[in-house]
Amino acid sequence: MIVCKFGGSSVAEASQIFKVKSIIESNPERKLIVVSAPGKRNSSDKKITDLLYRCHDEVLGDGKAESFNIIRDRYSEICKSLGIDDINSILDEALSGIESGKGPDYAASRGEFLAAKMLANFFEAEFIDAADIISLTEDGRVDESSYVRLNARIKGKGRYIIPGFYGSGPNGNIKTFSRGGSDITGAIAARSVNADVYENWTDVSGLLMADPRLVDNPGVVKELTYKEIRELASIGANVFHEEAVTPVKDHDIPINIRNTNDPEAAGTMIVTSRDTSDTPIVGISGKTDYRTIFVEKLMLNRYHGFRENFLKILKANGIIPEFESIGFDSISFLAPERQFDEIDTALSKIKRELTPEVLEVRHSLSLIGVVGSGIPEQVGVAAAVFTALSSNNINVRFISYGGSDVTLVVGVDSENYMEALKSIHNAFGGR
Ligand code: ASP
Repeated sequence: MIVCKFGGSSVAEASQIFKVKSIIESNPERKLIVVSAPGKRNSSDKKITDLLYRCHDEVLGDGKAESFNIIRDRYSEICKSLGIDDINSILDEALSGIESGKGPDYAASRGEFLAAKMLANFFEAEFIDAADIISLTEDGRVDESSYVRLNARIKGKGRYIIPGFYGSGPNGNIKTFSRGGSDITGAIAARSVNADVYENWTDVSGLLMADPRLVDNPGVVKELTYKEIRELASIGANVFHEEAVTPVKDHDIPINIRNTNDPEAAGTMIVTSRDTSDTPIVGISGKTDYRTIFVEKLMLNRYHGFRENFLKILKANGIIPEFESIGFDSISFLAPERQFDEIDTALSKIKRELTPEVLEVRHSLSLIGVVGSGIPEQVGVAAAVFTALSSNNINVRFISYGGSDVTLVVGVDSENYMEALKSIHNAFGGR
């Protein structure tokens, strides 16, 4: 069986939904379908989920969800163009739930709920409410019983459709995942039925090696591992919901990112392991505006608890370091620049309590993460990164490697950020 999740752009309007229908019908294995709420039809359009959050806020204001009219029109227009019955009575029910104060999660979940109800009719599929199947713990984890329950429901010959993005919390109320969370529902569905593949249909023909707004023509990554995709998320690449890997990873269910607008394209496969010989690197991404706080003190290691106290003072003043480097007589931490508002208080406290010989907050750095299983497996991959930088006369100000052996992080002065990204991309573009 194949589990297919269709994102907001794939269900944004009737013309897209016709494409979805032909994708589903072209393969009888595509039996279990997960849908998002209708997304944007063009760049100035509104996502249904955003409008639903707005409805919730309006109810908090004067008790009336004015924006629901836009939502109603959107679904009615889609039903009409698909040639199916209107869903007015379930729209009314959703509106009265929102106006009765069921909260933001309930409001937001209605986008997926209504989409799945509408499409169950069009695809002649059986509707399964995620609220009856997916149980979430207080801290948002999926309760194991969810997999068993869903598996037990998928026994017939026909197709099934489930709304993405939500389940039920411990008190039985609707609880949503974080934004983009229909990817997680797709992964839960895939694991429940032990799918052969989890197809994640979107509007790009796979993951790109770098952000196309920053580098020219980044290539599509054909294959990468679960570990690599997690690492890409950690260095800021906005690819696939970071929590959606967990349910499928331990069950070796490959994820295939596909394009609804180009169904012939093979897309990207996310798998357990891969051969890195031709493609050592799968992604290059970056984060700007980091600062380093640096202390130096002779015989640092003799001062018991120095590092811990340094960290404690930083944390108390809102600075949560993401990287650290420890030397013989020095320590530096790297944290996002926006956390440095309370730095003066932190600095005086550090001076007073830790009496360092040198205490400096260094100027802004940008970090570039290079991700690929080829880094630990092949000779010369890291060297190629540094050669690319040095041949463009870019000074390396920070290096971190080993926290994860598939990610190499280099810090450069922010003014060199774009050039650094481009030069590293060029170095691997053709490989
Ligand atoms: N509709 C939700 C959102 O906009 C969830 C999703 O599309 O995955 O975040």
